[in-house]
Amino acid sequence: MKFRMIAVLALFAVSVQAQDIATSFKATEVVPGITMIEGADGFAGGNMALLAGEDYVALVDDGLAPLAPTLKAFVDEQAGRPVNFLVNTHVHGDHVGGNAHFAESGTVVFAHENIRTRLLAKPDDAGGEGGLPVVTFADGVSFHLNGLEARAFHLPLAHTDGDAAIWFPDVNVLHTGDVFFHGLFPFIDLDNGGTVSGYIAAQRQLIDKVDADTQIIPGHGPLATRADLERDNAMLVDARARVKALLDSGQSADEIVEANPLADYHDNYNWGFITTERMTRTLVADLGGE
Ligand SMILES: [Zn+2]
Repeated sequence: MKFRMIAVLALFAVSVQAQDIATSFKATEVVPGITMIEGADGFAGGNMALLAGEDYVALVDDGLAPLAPTLKAFVDEQAGRPVNFLVNTHVHGDHVGGNAHFAESGTVVFAHENIRTRLLAKPDDAGGEGGLPVVTFADGVSFHLNGLEARAFHLPLAHTDGDAAIWFPDVNVLHTGDVFFHGLFPFIDLDNGGTVSGYIAAQRQLIDKVDADTQIIPGHGPLATRADLERDNAMLVDARARVKALLDSGQSADEIVEANPLADYHDNYNWGFITTERMTRTLVADLGGE
């Protein structure tokens, strides 16, 4: 378990280096009052959503800890004033890294209760103890800001055990957190309570919630639609079935990797952090294979 965790972190560091860390940010308007924030020239962490309007400023996720000052300066300028509320979609350091830096200036951090519990054991992921969420929720919490509702709701045992998606019903926008890696093999963090069946079920729940016109901000990858989410969900369902068939026939994890059942998804979905082999091994491990 411990070794696997270290291996995951090492792999993540390698993939981040390969992509280069961003030095600046860019904003894309999704609808008036909601922008998607991401690295302009490299990896800055997961996609963020900024809500800015007459009453309050809120931010969904806050990237990598070393970039927090750059992000805060960018977001403050975009919004015209400091962020009042932050919501973390899950515990990973590329989504909560800026927590402490924002909290120092009075931003109130909201998160699912399991995020706080896990961060208590490793607060550096959130930039230090000051980055621990101040308000936690179990099932969800709604914000009413600038004439809009932003509803954070928990998706159990999916990417981790503390995932939340944020739904903006008035403007038909959804931020999925890492329950959606658009066009990429997803990271399903079995060591932090994630499960493949929960991941598939969470995506199904989101598909049923949205419609063909919904604009979807994924945890990673470009802005998406329901059709994109359906395609990636179908890929994962199929990938798991392919791996299960080989496991059921008695093959070991190494034999399954060698057989490469996900080969025809490689060109579209393989990437530095979750390679085709790593996706295959995650599916094997989740299904109880060795
Ligand atoms: Zn993540």
